[in-house]
Amino acid sequence: MSVYWNSRVRRLSPYVPGEQPQGERVIKLNTNENPYAPAPEVIEALKRAAGESLRRYPDPECWEARSAAAAAYRVRPEQVFMGNGSDEVLAFIFGAFFETQGPPLLFPDITYSFYPVYAGLWDIPSRTVPLAGDFSIPVEGFLAPAGGVILPNPNAPTGMALGTAELLRIADYHAGRKRVVAVDEAYGAFAGGPLPGERSMAPYIERCPNLLTVHTLSKMGSLAGLRAGFAIGNEALIEGLCRIRDSFNSYPLDRIAQAGAAAFFQALPYYQGINSRIIATRRRVSADLEALGFQVLPSEANFLFIRKPGLPGIALLQALRGRGILARHFNQPRIEDFLRVSIGTDAEMDDFLWAVSQEAVCQQ
Ligand code: PMP
Repeated sequence: MSVYWNSRVRRLSPYVPGEQPQGERVIKLNTNENPYAPAPEVIEALKRAAGESLRRYPDPECWEARSAAAAAYRVRPEQVFMGNGSDEVLAFIFGAFFETQGPPLLFPDITYSFYPVYAGLWDIPSRTVPLAGDFSIPVEGFLAPAGGVILPNPNAPTGMALGTAELLRIADYHAGRKRVVAVDEAYGAFAGGPLPGERSMAPYIERCPNLLTVHTLSKMGSLAGLRAGFAIGNEALIEGLCRIRDSFNSYPLDRIAQAGAAAFFQALPYYQGINSRIIATRRRVSADLEALGFQVLPSEANFLFIRKPGLPGIALLQALRGRGILARHFNQPRIEDFLRVSIGTDAEMDDFLWAVSQEAVCQQ
């Protein structure tokens, strides 16, 4: 607390990102990064961009990357908005579409913990909808008058996904009330199928004028260090996001990030390969953990949400940390005994499985 903080800063409860150890050698399964390298073509594009042209400002509209994204998702470039990581895109969505007065914004009680932070930053009233007993998202809970809806599909940190028919029910309900439904598809590429992914709502933006999908290159593109994310929605929604951007920072993506993002969409076969490997590893590790007596939620993301009955989550977290393996723990009712474990390479996951088998056995 400082006397210099204004009342807004005093009121904030900021997001706490997962640990990012610098230099220390660890098996890092705590922030859902992709364990495989970005495509060689992407690295080449980044190197080419790191040249003389950096003396010039980048394209504020990111047309090259937007056009490449539009071609991959079969929409128009005017239906794509690029931001500095999808966190920035999400922050702009809160600022552009959710009201500071009237009925509350709805999101699940167990979900991406940045949503309540953005609601606090922008003074947006919100109400959480409790997940069902099996941790699935109850569609009916979102069919209520609201200031808007935001939810991830697959959800984080559970990894569980809703089908497109269920999401359409939510989108249609709120379309009639002129409220935006934002579906955060940060992990959509791991639900299966080529981009936009089997569960994606991006193909429905023409049918639903109130629907926005949010995507990131951090996970599916192996580019968490680049900071590039995007939203897809009808032109009027995209224009709303541009109005917020141009009231904040006209150049959220630098020239290097724009070049890398554009190159990502040219390298989709490579990414299809590495992301299919992650899905295969997830299936194998999930079965191995169940054989060790773990409860494993049915994940369609690049992480697993797991619990060993009788073993406190924090104890397992610390035991893994002691063996140089980082995972993520959320100190929240109902999930305090779970750990979220990102899917690493097969070798990393073998080390992880060996470590948990030791810990799980020791605790019995
Ligand atoms: N949405 C969800 C559900 C996430 O888990 C994350 C990653 N923390 C993000 C968005 C943000 O990703 P990024 O800012 O790296 O694009």
